Amino acid sequence: MNDEYYEFLETYYSELLVSKNNKFSKCDKCKNNKQFISQLTDEGIQLIYTCGNLGEKNKCGVQFTILLPKYINYVDELKILYDKINNNINLQDINSVLIVSHQIIKLVFIVIANITCYFYFAK
Ligand SMILES: [Zn+2]
Repeated sequence: MNDEYYEFLETYYSELLVSKNNKFSKCDKCKNNKQFISQLTDEGIQLIYTCGNLGEKNKCGVQFTILLPKYINYVDELKILYDKINNNINLQDINSVLIVSHQIIKLVFIVIANITCYFYFAK
């Protein structure tokens, strides 16, 4: 999993939560509500974050789409983080603690996304 992937996933879910507040349900530049779409494709579950209308001059429209990994080796991913904590982290250094904590949160995001979609599409 590259960092960009996690960033998008994190943005998707944080924007989704923030948009539940009416004050933030629309983007500054358009009248339509932000939309968070999850759909099943041949390649897997796709998440789409979009606002406004497509084809307008402004930057509205689809902000990004991400494809959830069908299979992710959580054991390996967690082991990498665990090793980082044990070997590379200096607990006196708040920055390295924050970086590793952040990576763990990102992994949790993926797990939640997969579980949510699993139940959503399993119906
Ligand atoms: Zn917009």
